[in-house]
Amino acid sequence: MTGALAARWPALTWNRRWSLWGALVALVGALLATLVWLAGRYEISQFQSRLDRDAAEAVTDIRTALTRNIQGLQALQTGPATPVLWSLAADALLRQHRELVRLEWRDADLTVRAHSASPYRSDVFDRLGRASASQDVALACTAARKFNGPAYSASYFVPMYDGLGLEVMELCMPLGAGGGVSGYLVATYSLHHILTELIGKQVTRSQEVSLTEADGTRLAMHGGARRGSRVFTANHLLDLPGNTMVLRVDGWRTAPDLFPNLLTALVTALSIALVSVLTLLARDTRRRLRAERELAEALAFRKAMEDSLVTGLRARDLQGRITYVNPAFCDMVGFAAEELLGRSAPMPYWPPEMADEYRQRQAIRLAGNAPPREGFESVFMRKDGTRFPVLIIEAPLIDVLGKQAGWMSAFLDISEQRRVEELSRASQERLQASARLATVGEMASLLSHELNQPLAAIASYATGSLNLLSDAHGVPTAQALSDLRMAVERIAGQADRAGKVINSVHDFVRRRDQSREAVSAQALFDAIGPLVSLQARKLGVRLEREIEADLPPVWCDRTMVEQVLLNLVRNGMQAMEAVAPQERLLRLAVRAVPSRAQCRSLMFSVVDHGTGIPDEVARQLFTPFFTTKGEGMGLGLSLCRTVVEQHGGQLEYQPNRPRGTEFRFSLAVPPQQLAAGSEVDAASRSG
Ligand code: ADP
Repeated sequence: MTGALAARWPALTWNRRWSLWGALVALVGALLATLVWLAGRYEISQFQSRLDRDAAEAVTDIRTALTRNIQGLQALQTGPATPVLWSLAADALLRQHRELVRLEWRDADLTVRAHSASPYRSDVFDRLGRASASQDVALACTAARKFNGPAYSASYFVPMYDGLGLEVMELCMPLGAGGGVSGYLVATYSLHHILTELIGKQVTRSQEVSLTEADGTRLAMHGGARRGSRVFTANHLLDLPGNTMVLRVDGWRTAPDLFPNLLTALVTALSIALVSVLTLLARDTRRRLRAERELAEALAFRKAMEDSLVTGLRARDLQGRITYVNPAFCDMVGFAAEELLGRSAPMPYWPPEMADEYRQRQAIRLAGNAPPREGFESVFMRKDGTRFPVLIIEAPLIDVLGKQAGWMSAFLDISEQRRVEELSRASQERLQASARLATVGEMASLLSHELNQPLAAIASYATGSLNLLSDAHGVPTAQALSDLRMAVERIAGQADRAGKVINSVHDFVRRRDQSREAVSAQALFDAIGPLVSLQARKLGVRLEREIEADLPPVWCDRTMVEQVLLNLVRNGMQAMEAVAPQERLLRLAVRAVPSRAQCRSLMFSVVDHGTGIPDEVARQLFTPFFTTKGEGMGLGLSLCRTVVEQHGGQLEYQPNRPRGTEFRFSLAVPPQQLAAGSEVDAASRSG
């Protein structure tokens, strides 16, 4: 249930996170599109308003120019009133104004009195004749009379000889004399030239300007080359007295205008940057999420590891305060983590009687002294007051910067180990005791054999003494008394001998203390001497001892080593039972190792000339209870090996030449003896 929830939870957050990211990206996309669109719109409206402004300016230009022209035309009439002179002045005017095609001075009935044509082109009315336009002139003049001021006619097309033609418009200006109309001044305008001459060049350079009728019919047109496929148009009314036209300005732009100008480009660049930043952010977030997940997994793994550890862990800061304990430690001492965290000396798990000692130990540790790497043993107290032994391994706690941040300790509850050790020690002792008893049992038969002699001697001396006493009939002679004394002395001597034999066995069986001491090889051999001799005599074995001179003592548990020697000797002797009596030789030897000059230990060897050890026996030689002997217990060699190993040595054997087996082991020389030995060496060298 919890697992399913835990599995769904990340999936939920995952979906939510991605939908949030999706929404963010969509929003940013929409924002960018809107920005680009608005920038484009702004650009277009800018263009359109410039076009509108240009159209308005062009109309103003035309109007101003036409008004100025009217003034110029009026000036014609103020001069000489003869047609010839008028023509001269009109010619001058026409030269100045290319938009004027023709000027006429007409009478009140519209009869032409004088006229003048523009010097810039052949006469426009060559082909159709001026009469063709009389209608328009008449209309304009009628209007002029009505307005009592200049009036324009509607425009009309005049075809010419060159195949082209011209759209022209008449201006009629009434000439007044004394309140009435005395005549008219008719000026013919070329619409095309109005566009080319009267409008500022900046308008026509990049745009097309045209004059159209109200319904859009184009009358005249002028302008620069078309650029771009998208056309923008601005119309402005050119309202003249008697004639109304529309001035149209067409502008072109390149299409499609994705980045119409700097602003749009800037917005787009910023948007791209924004999207890039978003992408980077998303990637960064993804990476961070992955790192977070990995970290969480690592933490969970560490937690699981710590929780399943049987080793107690504790961290302390440099002031000795507990900063961390794992569950195993809490279980061990019986305190909850909250009861331990932040605590400093004395710790609640210190037995009160040892608090001072532990406080000192902690002070030493906090002073920066590293504890032994292999750890040390201590005793802790559980919450219920029970004590238990622990093995503590401590090490400095180094933080990420490589600086020591405190101490880390690992704890092992070694009560169980102690119990097992105790058990094994007890069983070992029992084993040793039974082995000793087995030896004793064996010795008993030997003893009886050995005691037979003194007892027989005692018996015969006693019988002899009794005989002497009965012979004396109450009064012993001096001879008898002396014989009796001798007999009693012999009895005492034999009894003493028997007592010694028994004591030697008794000593061996009773000695149980296990303390180690410095013992000389000679003393060891002497101790087992009587028993060994007894056995040798019984089995008809010759004994040979070989002890190097001036050997230092060895550091050992005397009783145990004697037992080892005794076992090896006994095995050796028994192995020779089958060989000829004259060849039954057992050698006991001790020598210094590695050399006499630098003696670190003594090598004991027991060499027999027996049957040797066959392979199938060798394989199980040290197995407890393995024996090839009818009455053997099979404990001797296993005990020997245990004892030798407890002394830090090794029990080895190898075949002896030409026959038999050599068993050997070494025992260490006590340290003080080593020092003394080297001093002696040094003294002897300097001497
Ligand atoms: P036990 O003497 O009671 O049999 P041990 O552990 O001392 O027990 O010896 C085990 C066996 O090893 C012996 O039964 C014997 O066969 C063999 N063994 C021990 N020492 C010798 C030896 N020096 N030569 C030949 N065989 C030996």
